[in-house]
Amino acid sequence: MEKCIACGKDAKITFRALEVQTLHVRDLDREKRVQALGDFHDFAVCRECAQTKLDRELSVFREILGSLIRFGLVLAAGIVLLAVFFMRDRVFTMLGLAAVVCGLIGVISKTAEGRERSRQLKAMKGDKALLSAAWDVVKLHAPKKYQDSDLTYIPVTPDTRRMKNGDIMIEYKLLPEIAIKAYEMIHQKGSDNQKRSDDQKGSEKEA
Ligand SMILES: [Zn+2]
Repeated sequence: MEKCIACGKDAKITFRALEVQTLHVRDLDREKRVQALGDFHDFAVCRECAQTKLDRELSVFREILGSLIRFGLVLAAGIVLLAVFFMRDRVFTMLGLAAVVCGLIGVISKTAEGRERSRQLKAMKGDKALLSAAWDVVKLHAPKKYQDSDLTYIPVTPDTRRMKNGDIMIEYKLLPEIAIKAYEMIHQKGSDNQKRSDDQKGSEKEA
């Protein structure tokens, strides 16, 4: 049996995912993205890790606590700078203001993001919320770098196979030509996989 990507125990929830490599290059003043598709990878998550993640995401506060602390510290540093240097030193005053704004925006956007995720999960039927949380566990633990490129993954699931390539492009932040290629690969390789796993990828295998 496959091993959980998070804890290493036997895992029943499996995903096949297509790797996307994104390189950010500075071209004159603009930043450009160069993308390529990698191989398909198999990931597995145990029920306990998926359930723990789901519980955290549903409770919002526990899930975003780490981010709240980070942005809270930025906010606090900004307040301290303002308290000490306000009107006395322009540079530190500006720095303090920037930190306060950045901290506040961070706290507000993370809270909104957490609430939205919780709302989405609550609206999912059956095992879908658990599988969605399991995919978040994969995203958290899967390799994120290959040389200088950032790695992201597109899961091959019935949901992603139903997506049009424009939707895949937006959802997985792909360049248009890469989205077309990804769409083809997900459908071709996806059907190869079906023979092996009978469409069980991205869903829980029968014990
Ligand atoms: Zn686990």
